[in-house]
Amino acid sequence: MLPKSETITVPARTDIVYEPFFESTDTDWKSPSDTEYSMANGLTNGSRRTIPPQMGGSVDYLGGFCHTIGGLCETEKYKDTHPEYLALHDGERTTDQPCLTNPDVLAICTKNVLKILEEKHDPNAPLQIVSVTQNDNFSNCQCENCKAFEDAHGGKPSATVVNFVNQIADVVKEKGYNNVAIDTFAYYYSQSAPEGIVPRDNVIIRLCSILCCFSHPLDTKKCNGKFYKDLTDWAKICDRLYIWDYATNYVHTCTVFPNFGVIQKNMQIFYENNVKGMYVEGNYYMNRCDTEFGELRAYMISKCMQDPYCDLDKEVAGFCDAYYGPGGKYVKKIVDTFTRHSGSFDGEMAIYYGSWACMRPFTAIEARIIDGLWKKAENAAETDEQLANLKRTELSWRWWKASAGKCEFSFFSRKRAAEKEKLYEDLLASGVIDFAEFSAEDVRAIDKEVIRYATPDQWHVGSENKEDCQTQMKIEKLAERFPPLFGIVAFFYTMTHS
Ligand SMILES: [Zn+2]
Ligand SMILES: [Zn+2]
Repeated sequence: MLPKSETITVPARTDIVYEPFFESTDTDWKSPSDTEYSMANGLTNGSRRTIPPQMGGSVDYLGGFCHTIGGLCETEKYKDTHPEYLALHDGERTTDQPCLTNPDVLAICTKNVLKILEEKHDPNAPLQIVSVTQNDNFSNCQCENCKAFEDAHGGKPSATVVNFVNQIADVVKEKGYNNVAIDTFAYYYSQSAPEGIVPRDNVIIRLCSILCCFSHPLDTKKCNGKFYKDLTDWAKICDRLYIWDYATNYVHTCTVFPNFGVIQKNMQIFYENNVKGMYVEGNYYMNRCDTEFGELRAYMISKCMQDPYCDLDKEVAGFCDAYYGPGGKYVKKIVDTFTRHSGSFDGEMAIYYGSWACMRPFTAIEARIIDGLWKKAENAAETDEQLANLKRTELSWRWWKASAGKCEFSFFSRKRAAEKEKLYEDLLASGVIDFAEFSAEDVRAIDKEVIRYATPDQWHVGSENKEDCQTQMKIEKLAERFPPLFGIVAFFYTMTHS
């Protein structure tokens, strides 16, 4: 729920000239398709929104936005008649990816790219993009030809990718599509730049930070050194470098994901490395899983894409006041505290970490102080809307406490199981129907015993972790009957199995 304003004041003779830092900007949280929201937040990519030309227009992906190569190369259609069109991976042909050095595959893909352009191209748009991006797996082709091409270009699988899209980009240019760029990924196996081959001017390399640590900035050698080298290597050979960045926890989305400290620094790193386009993938499934600081984070990302050198601290304070009310200053304090605690025991935090591993443990006293800040913020709320925003965001802190066994969720608290049940009910009451990007089970149908005696991170994991969950439940039931001895056992078990 965002506060609404009936009027807006613009000083007379306002004349603002703004040169964007990035030619394309995108992040996908709660209102990505709303034109006004997008305009206000400087989101210009057209893949999730329509911005009419009189309002500035958008940079559109014609056809798909990502993982398009299977469809464009028609791998399913040819899998039986032309298995040589498919990637040879671990000795077997697979539709996971096409073979990128097969000339017939190139011809099929080029034909389909041109078909998209014939149907959808707008010659008056400033820039349009056709995505020729690898499927979401690790099965790159290892056939003799692909291997030989890679070996001749520094042994990098990205060589065959760049070579493939370069040839499509050449045809697109020859046909006169001068405002069109062909987009491809530097992702998983293709993350590192090749040697001795350069992307054409009309090729976009979209480098993905999926394997990075988001507790430390991307130029941190210890954890992000490989990514940073790949970024700077691509920046040297590519004039149209885009980024696919990540800003939420995709397996435990309801918990706190304290990446607030790196958002601005990373945006500066991107800008200073010649990045032209930004897409920050967020919790795009907020309509089924909204507990956290998504609204704040979306605002921070948008502000930084509009100006990586903005006064972000001031922006955060302003947002908290507007969104959470007079108690916003306490929420900012909480955010700052979470930021100082980001990362596991070793300080690292990836986008698939367990809840308790996203923040270094707070002592019981520290946790109580944070509880007190929530309480102060809620007491200061002037409207139901502000209070609802606070209560919903606090769910993420409650989730973290339940996972880490703090305060009312302590293993020494007799209310522990009941509080977990209450948390679960409050989550559902606030509209949450998923706990992750891909929930294994319908979270509304989880067994009550699981809710009471497993940890929140285990609630939705489904059959593959059932055994872990059963053991946890047995220990917690014993802990409930014989505190504190089993409480201690349960605590350490949880810390190693979440
Ligand atoms: Zn091949
Ligand atoms: Zn790190």
